Amino acid sequence: MSAFQSLLALPFARANEPLSRHTTIKVGGPTRVWVEPNSFDELEYFLRLNAQVGAPLYVLGAGSNIVPAADGYEGVMLHLGPRFAYHRFEENRMVAGGAMILPKLTSLANKQNLGNFEWACGIPGSVGGSLWGNAGARGFNGEGFESRDSAADFYGCVAYNRKGERVELGRSDVEFAYRKSSLGELIVVEATFALKPLTDEQTLRHKGAIRDLLEKRRNSQPVSAASAGCIWKNPSVEGCAGAGALIEQLGLKSASIGGAQISAIHGNFLVNQGGTAADVRALASHIEAQVKAQTGIELEREARFL
Ligand SMILES: Cc1cc2nc3c(=O)[nH]c(=O)nc-3n(C[C@H](O)[C@H](O)[C@H](O)COP(=O)(O)OP(=O)(O)OC[C@H]3O[C@@H](n4cnc5c(N)ncnc54)[C@H](O)[C@@H]3O)c2cc1C
Repeated sequence: MSAFQSLLALPFARANEPLSRHTTIKVGGPTRVWVEPNSFDELEYFLRLNAQVGAPLYVLGAGSNIVPAADGYEGVMLHLGPRFAYHRFEENRMVAGGAMILPKLTSLANKQNLGNFEWACGIPGSVGGSLWGNAGARGFNGEGFESRDSAADFYGCVAYNRKGERVELGRSDVEFAYRKSSLGELIVVEATFALKPLTDEQTLRHKGAIRDLLEKRRNSQPVSAASAGCIWKNPSVEGCAGAGALIEQLGLKSASIGGAQISAIHGNFLVNQGGTAADVRALASHIEAQVKAQTGIELEREARFL
């Protein structure tokens, strides 16, 4: 039996699942095997089997920072099933399953009179993917708005390595930097965030801040278009206001190839208007070449191009 055939015998696996169904940019061909475990036992069983058969493995969260290839993925895509979208509170700590979506957690934390998670209100990623890439945005500290990220409230997580062994990591076991972490090949199945207890009055103020943050996003990002969020990291170059601003300054806003377009609202968003993965990838490469030719700056991708 081939590696793929033995994996497809699992009751929670299926063949040739189109990745366009599982990415927010809505492009991408099929993955050879799609595996969606719904319990720690299923996940462990799959990982141990896969370690034996040796199929290439990629972990897909909410697919909100991924651009798959037009011909899909010749391997196994692991996606934590809906039963991993759980949460519970332990005093001022919020424990969330790896498939839980961030904006839902912001709202649950606020209802629980806990603050600091406001930054996540508009990020359509899962807990696992967001921790892995240290997602971040503007948040609220009770007085004003400030930058925050997944690392800021991180208390610990439960993960599996590719051999199916469970590991528990504390705050000091994981390193974080701008949009990256040291989690590497680990698969995050649960994370705990230590949040700030609020009075009822403070909770109302934080709720207002969430509304403001969402409104600001609606006015400055193409939130309802098919996209993969910011495509490029902000270059750490003196005087550069960010990748989006740079693209706008060079007159590349609204540039398009096929059905892929640089958003007219935000230069760092590439939106899909009925195009293909090939369109999206060609446009990203075109923008990078233009930026390099005109400024010498090499844009680094934040979104993962498979
Ligand atoms: C409209 C829009 C707005 C956005 N705004 C922001 C923003 O303000 N700030 C920001 O930082 N990002 C933003 N993003 C990008 C994206 O939502 C984040 O990067 C998010 O954290 C990605 O999480 P995901 O679950 O979708 O991961 P995916 O896109 O599925 O995967 C991203 C990476 O994480 C890995 N991964 C996924 N799940 C796991 C897991 N369980 N364990 C280990 N690794 C895993 C994948 O292998 C991949 O390398 C935005 C995206 C959109 C579409």
